[in-house]
Amino acid sequence: ELINLNELFNHVLDRFDMILKTDDNPDKTYSIKREFTRRDLWVEVDTDKFQQVLDNLMNNAIKYSPDGGTITYRLLETHNHVILSVSDQGLGIPKKDLTHVFDRFYRVDKARSRAQGGTGLGLAISKEIISMHGGRIWVDSKEGKGSVFYISLPYEPIDEEDQWE
Ligand code: ATP
Ligand code: MG
Repeated sequence: ELINLNELFNHVLDRFDMILKTDDNPDKTYSIKREFTRRDLWVEVDTDKFQQVLDNLMNNAIKYSPDGGTITYRLLETHNHVILSVSDQGLGIPKKDLTHVFDRFYRVDKARSRAQGGTGLGLAISKEIISMHGGRIWVDSKEGKGSVFYISLPYEPIDEEDQWE
């Protein structure tokens, strides 16, 4: 299905914005920042599955930012890819774990992760879904500073005028 990525992002983030605003824990404040290209980006994706990936990344960003912070969603295009990123200001991931977080059931700090719930499957599923779309997912992180998850998808710019033909 051909979808407007900017619109899907706004849809997902509006929902999280609502939840975070009703969070009754005053010590934790999150804010969501959106940095999108002005132009609409149309890509061919399985919307349900793709939304699941965005949900996973957002849930992680919140779950692994115990002190809150800003979660930034970026969306940009290169000549043949769209690149989206989700950055948080949370716990970060130690260097030695960076290549493993996409493995099934892999969790960085077992005790910490157990307390937070979850199965360690979120990123493995996300990776599967992204590769189904011919894309890539990777992470860059600094322990104690935060993490940035990136996704790139193949993209062919559509002439705005041809869009409805
Ligand atoms: P699930 O997603 O199944 O509920 P999970 O969040 O533990 O459980 P993944 O989403 O696959 O599983 O993430 C794997 C591990 O990578 C996490 O347990 C956590 O240690 C680490 N991780 C993932 N996202 C972040 C993040 N934004 N900041 C810090 N660590 C992260
Ligand atoms: Mg997760």
